[in-house]
Amino acid sequence: MFTDSHCHLTYLKLDNHDHQPQNLLNAMKSANVSRAMAIMCHYDEFDDIKAWVDRSDEALDIGMSVGLHPCQDESVLAGVTVEKLLSYNHDKVWAFGETGLDYHWDDTKKVAQKHSFATHIHASQSVKKPIIVHTRSAYHDTLDLLTAEKCEHGIIHCFTEDYAFAKRALDLGMYISFSGIVSFNKSDALREVAKKLPLDRILIETDSPYLAPVPKRGRDNEPTYVPYVAEALAKVYDKTSEEMAEITSRNFEALLSQYQ
Ligand SMILES: [Zn+2]
Repeated sequence: MFTDSHCHLTYLKLDNHDHQPQNLLNAMKSANVSRAMAIMCHYDEFDDIKAWVDRSDEALDIGMSVGLHPCQDESVLAGVTVEKLLSYNHDKVWAFGETGLDYHWDDTKKVAQKHSFATHIHASQSVKKPIIVHTRSAYHDTLDLLTAEKCEHGIIHCFTEDYAFAKRALDLGMYISFSGIVSFNKSDALREVAKKLPLDRILIETDSPYLAPVPKRGRDNEPTYVPYVAEALAKVYDKTSEEMAEITSRNFEALLSQYQ
């Protein structure tokens, strides 16, 4: 049974599924995907994501995150408070985020991004739920903020950094999640990093609709493709993709129950 630890269900076009959410859920079950975390990037998305969560059944458990992506408007990031984030908290909120730092497209709102990132960490710590970290072109600031805030419970999502980054995150207590990027031909360096990581601290994700794994590259990604991410990692660790499914699902459960 596979766990997709990071997908944006509300961004999926569902062209392959007659635009019917239930068809996608049935396809996920057929692909042995039994759990998925639907990620929130803005308050506006809460109701639509919650509707996906409410479609969970005994064969497919969907949880969600609550948070603001670092690429949101500066005023939105600057205005976030712990109280605001916690006002969205409920049983099926499994994590806070995705938050973090992204200086790739715009490095003029670093102060607001750092405020938002730290606020998400404080919210996550107050209810003992993990944080989901997005980092892009912000290597040192991300690690420094995680360290300063003693953030020891969460996921570095869509990991593409080097071993030194992974080691510092692991030493804090974080988990490392791999997306379809680990299946790309050009990703030898990333696979070399993956090889050195402890198996009990890795997760898999689609980040759908982005980053479809080989052999679906170039198409819209969806959670039914998470087994391809497992397959790419299985080669790295000399395991079967079924073994990777079990390992990463167990890790996800351990992460959610870490402080419960
Ligand atoms: Zn994402």
